[in-house]
Amino acid sequence: MSVEEQNVKKGGISVDTEHIFPIIKKWLYSEKDIFLREIISNASDAITKLKRLQSISVWDSEESDYRITVKLDSSLGTLTVEDNGIGMTEEELTKYICNIALSGAVDFIKQYENESEGNKNGIIGHFGLGFYSAFMVSDRVDVITKSYTDSPAVFWSCNESGEYETAPSDRADRGTSVIMHISDSEKEFLSASKIRAMLSKYCSFMPVDIYFIDESEENKEPELVNDKNPLWQRAASDCTDEDYREFYQKVFLDYKEPLFHIHINADYPLNFKGILYFPKLANEYETIEGQVKLYYNQVYVADNIKEVIPEYLLMLKGVLDCPELPLNVSRSYLQTNTYVSKVSAHIVKKVCDKLTSLCNNDRERFAKIWDDISPFIEYACMKDKKFYDRTKNALLLKLTDGSSVTYSEYLENAKEKHENKVYYATDTALQSQYISMFEAQGIRVAIFDKPIDTQFASMLEQYMEGVKFLRVDADLADALKDDGEISENEALKNIFTEIAGENVTVKFDRFKDGNIPAILNVSEDSRRMEEMMRFYSMSGEASFPTQSTLILNTASPLISKLEDAAVTEPEKAKEIASYIYKVSLLSQKKFTADEMQSFMKDSFEILMKL
Ligand code: ADP
Repeated sequence: MSVEEQNVKKGGISVDTEHIFPIIKKWLYSEKDIFLREIISNASDAITKLKRLQSISVWDSEESDYRITVKLDSSLGTLTVEDNGIGMTEEELTKYICNIALSGAVDFIKQYENESEGNKNGIIGHFGLGFYSAFMVSDRVDVITKSYTDSPAVFWSCNESGEYETAPSDRADRGTSVIMHISDSEKEFLSASKIRAMLSKYCSFMPVDIYFIDESEENKEPELVNDKNPLWQRAASDCTDEDYREFYQKVFLDYKEPLFHIHINADYPLNFKGILYFPKLANEYETIEGQVKLYYNQVYVADNIKEVIPEYLLMLKGVLDCPELPLNVSRSYLQTNTYVSKVSAHIVKKVCDKLTSLCNNDRERFAKIWDDISPFIEYACMKDKKFYDRTKNALLLKLTDGSSVTYSEYLENAKEKHENKVYYATDTALQSQYISMFEAQGIRVAIFDKPIDTQFASMLEQYMEGVKFLRVDADLADALKDDGEISENEALKNIFTEIAGENVTVKFDRFKDGNIPAILNVSEDSRRMEEMMRFYSMSGEASFPTQSTLILNTASPLISKLEDAAVTEPEKAKEIASYIYKVSLLSQKKFTADEMQSFMKDSFEILMKL
């Protein structure tokens, strides 16, 4: 036996290894990639620990070139993570690495063996098993480590059954190398592009410089893969618009400029940082799924954790760094954790504050982006009353004249002519006749052209006492009416009743505008009811509401003439009345092909009379 061999010590990982190893291999099956994050996080922690000792002068050194190097050697079948951190003595190695699954971990694992995949991920890390995740992809892991102290370097090698051996090593430099011998079944982890993608996903913002070397490349220049000072760690006052834009493009590979951003820097006790962006969607059909990346001390944890950010804000893109959360978080942990719900509430508050400040201080810009953001804001208000309460003064109404106003500005302006009534149009082309009548009398008309707008209006009616939303064809506003006397002509009324059928009530009124002979109104309530029925029947067919009112304008010279004709030339009066009815229908709904044909035919016949 050689001296070397005499120094080799053999052992077995102490606690119930036969349980641990198969479970480690199985448990993280769905997210094997995580092993690299775990090993690099350990390396980063080892550097942080040494820096700390340096800062309190326990370790007297001028060292400043701290780094982690990830080396891929596909010909040897190894992936190595090397750091120049604190390192381990043989004693420490035995204590920290060989005694895994300290006390309760094995029981815990046994208990949760049947848990769903998502929850299992939470166990690695909680019990100091992070290092062992290397065995998910390796059939052997070697560690060569030298403590920052004078202790000699040590070599440790462990196979996938948990049998290890330690031996002295001639390593001279302080630090640790973890050499993973990738199993035959996990060959994908010997691909440089795969490792680059994993480094980019998990390590892009880790706080220590990380270099990647692909040994199969000719010039084995170490390639820096991370930015250790990500934007979210800086004070908002030190970041320019350009910085935010660049960061957004780099992280989300989205070259459309985001609409605006929110930089959060929450102090103790919440203690988290982040930047959230409102993305610009290319078109309304684009999926609205955003991406909020959660980090733990600059180490990537996961995307779109809805416990941390409410589901209605998940169209945002951004980064959140919560050092108060463990690196490996389980769903059940998040759901019951009060800290997490406080973080979520704080994010909501920040989003609301930002919207309010944009509305108050940068109205022009806010009005410009309103069209893009309104469906999300309205949805958020409908999902969360608190969100509504916080943003109610920043909600805008887009008007048919191209301007925008807040609800209180609209209602203030409405006081004299149409108190507490908000008039809106859902289709500015179809409803243009009505819109121009309102506009001519100085009544503002809001545009509700998105499906969510009308649902949102119903919600607002519950929250804003006394306020009623009326589509422009629902109600002949008092302001549109003339005070003059209204004379009802029975003969003409009968003609129109006969033409329009029993579902249409015919009545006379006097409009300020004499150019319009008649309009057709459908009450707001019955139209909404009809819309609801259509929605629930799922037929989607645009059936015309059953009850409507045809209002004949006694101020119209055409109606006056028709009143005379109803007595003298009843047939001609009928023909004209029928035409007027069709014209009024035209601004209520889109004609079917048959209706359009018949309307054209009538038009030509009337023209022939000339
Ligand atoms: P955790 O990191 O959650 O404590 P790990 O199983 O990942 O659990 O690591 C166990 C311990 O091994 C660490 O706490 C650390 O003391 C030690 N260790 C692991 N990797 C390194 C390293 N690269 N340098 C120094 N010590 C390390």
